[in-house]
Amino acid sequence: MSEKMMKAAVLTGPQQIEIKELPVPEVREGEIEIKVSACGVCGSDIHMWKAGKGWGKDMKDFVMGHEFCGVVTNPNGSNFKAGERVVFWANLYCGECDMCRAGLEHLCRDVNGTNYIGFVCNGAYAEKFVGKAKNAYRLPDSVSDVAAGLIDPLMVAYHAVRKANIKLGDKVLVVGTGIIGNMIGELAKKSGASYVAMSKRNDRKLARAKEAGYFDDYFDEKEPDVRQKMVDRTHGGFDVAFEVVGAQSTLDTCIHTVKPGGSVVMIGNSMTETIPVNINRAVLQEVRLIGSVSCTREEFTGTIDLIADGIIDPERYVTDILPLTDLQQAFERLTSKTDPILKAVVKP
Ligand SMILES: [Zn+2]
Ligand SMILES: [Zn+2]
Repeated sequence: MSEKMMKAAVLTGPQQIEIKELPVPEVREGEIEIKVSACGVCGSDIHMWKAGKGWGKDMKDFVMGHEFCGVVTNPNGSNFKAGERVVFWANLYCGECDMCRAGLEHLCRDVNGTNYIGFVCNGAYAEKFVGKAKNAYRLPDSVSDVAAGLIDPLMVAYHAVRKANIKLGDKVLVVGTGIIGNMIGELAKKSGASYVAMSKRNDRKLARAKEAGYFDDYFDEKEPDVRQKMVDRTHGGFDVAFEVVGAQSTLDTCIHTVKPGGSVVMIGNSMTETIPVNINRAVLQEVRLIGSVSCTREEFTGTIDLIADGIIDPERYVTDILPLTDLQQAFERLTSKTDPILKAVVKP
């Protein structure tokens, strides 16, 4: 057998990852092959890890991993050269529908919030990855492999902050303590917010946020009068609140703590399709509810520039750099109630 083989972290069942030898995927027309340098471990991976399956149909030997970069090993007639460093945008947009043509590739009719590399097809928790050349972007030398593994959460934060239209002196709330919440806090401050607060449910992931120093205050979601405290501290409410959890109580916190006419940017996905919200509060106070997902293709390259130009250093939020063999353990730690792990990056 002359087939090339690679090590890959296969999701073999609920909460179960096994390192297997898989054949390197065939490189078809329009695709390139890379040797994976780094792949970020994402919160949405945790959902699939718990369920033991991806979002596609009939996926045998499913490999997750959608936040990755690598070195081109087979350019296959594309504009890339062997040895070039590239990062992949996981969004499998069609490029032809009305949304794509309007520059809103993240809202592509074919994508519909689910059509991503590492969700509906195999991703990059492996030594090699093969994917469409049009999803690959050259990496400047000033963006490290680990930083490139964080472009995915950073692009989500960047898009959300742009949607919020933050103005100089705005007061901003971030509900959520994960990597995206942290990056939103930093970008909000750098966009001119005068006061940025984080609302949390526990302290386990706060060390890096405190070290980075972009949050002026931390509120405890579980305190009974916490919403009033927030309104008092901001002299009447936040201009913008970012919901980065995807739960009823946290969305409610946002709706109740923005000032009249304020904006709530919703980034957190809910595990249930519907959650009740206080509609009267939203209507009578003209609270603007804004959904935010992924980013446009233009913002993806903009995110690479943010790092290359030194606007933000995403590596500061990385708590763990791991080999592929430790991926299972990373998920166990990410789902523990006490582990301070904030962001892990795998180096296969
Ligand atoms: Zn992700
Ligand atoms: Zn499209």
